[in-house]
Amino acid sequence: GGGIKTGKEMETIEEKSSVGSRILVFVRLRPMAKKEKEAGSRCCVRIVNRRDVFLTEFASENDYLRLKRLRGRHFTFDASFPDSTSQQEVYSTTTADLVEGVLQGKNGSVFCYGATGAGKTYTMLGTMENPGVMVLAMKDLFAKIRHRSCDGNHVVHLSYLEVYNETVRDLLSPGRPLVLREDKQGIVASGLTQYRAYSTDEVMALLQRGNQNRTTEPTRVNETSSRSHAILQVVAEYRVRDDTMNVVNRVGKLSLIDLAGSERALATDQRTLRSIEGANINRSLLALSSCINALVEGKKHIPYRNSKLTQLLKDSLGGACNTVMIANISPSNLSFGETQNTLHWADRAKEIRTKACEANEEILQVPTTDTNQAKLLLELQKEN
Ligand code: ADP
Ligand code: MG
Repeated sequence: GGGIKTGKEMETIEEKSSVGSRILVFVRLRPMAKKEKEAGSRCCVRIVNRRDVFLTEFASENDYLRLKRLRGRHFTFDASFPDSTSQQEVYSTTTADLVEGVLQGKNGSVFCYGATGAGKTYTMLGTMENPGVMVLAMKDLFAKIRHRSCDGNHVVHLSYLEVYNETVRDLLSPGRPLVLREDKQGIVASGLTQYRAYSTDEVMALLQRGNQNRTTEPTRVNETSSRSHAILQVVAEYRVRDDTMNVVNRVGKLSLIDLAGSERALATDQRTLRSIEGANINRSLLALSSCINALVEGKKHIPYRNSKLTQLLKDSLGGACNTVMIANISPSNLSFGETQNTLHWADRAKEIRTKACEANEEILQVPTTDTNQAKLLLELQKEN
């Protein structure tokens, strides 16, 4: 990360900002797991030039060279990360610009999509040794704030919530389900804990604990959260004096979203209790795919109201927001179908255009002429 940018890097940054409101789509391939190796699986994904993904049912180099034109599929993304890519590189390429935007009062969101086991939670939360995007984003945000703190005051609040089975829960203070309501800012969860954060050190432990509060699969005790969506919201408020000496309040919101396993989106509808849960997860992910379709087709009506997840993501998908999608995939041919499905949706998400992302800025104090101050006072008195 950091350091002096090369000409090429500058070019990419410029390209990115000129496309502005297009969703940026990245793919991350994880290393082959021990279990997959033991099951004799072969690698069916190749990443070339950090952009192109080839998906082929044929594994050996010979097969690949001979048959890629016949049977393989080729996709291209804003960047594609091979299995050797570090957490820091994933963060820098996908999310660092959004964190910068948040300090300027712009909303941003990053969501990880993919089948269970594809690497979503590793990418978002990571481990103590290799922290993921959530933690690296906080670290970067605090570093940037420290760097600038001479020209204003800042406050950072965190919320961490889960959507499971069409129920919204607070992961920082588990208890009764939360109710969603719409206000000026958009959709908000009433009563959600807003944790005031001062440094990165406390954040990893907080998020790890929050993650342990994610709903555990009843039948797969060791595998938490494959049906739950986890959303970390970071709100950075920054009070600063602008060029004309006005005091302005900038509020930027960053949402980091670890979606439930996408394999459920196409699951069957057996009439058991388990599948009622399944159907609800389907509801959220199916609603997400219908919203993506409607956005891509430029429809007037986008069916956000069909699920809790899409209500919460409304801002991120169709609003004024810088949005990034990271599609996580396994290299194993045993996951071929799931990988194909993930790449299909990632490819489709490239077409989504969000609204132009402007800063959320409010002028609190006008440079003082006496009349202006008198007016301001009057207004404040009225509000109280
Ligand atoms: P998901 O959240 O999509 O269900 P996980 O993030 O839990 O998947 O990943 C499944 C397993 O693979 C975990 O043990 C995780 O540590 C490991 N893993 C995932 N991605 C990587 C990676 N890029 N490098 C190393 N290990 C990874
Ligand atoms: Mg997970």
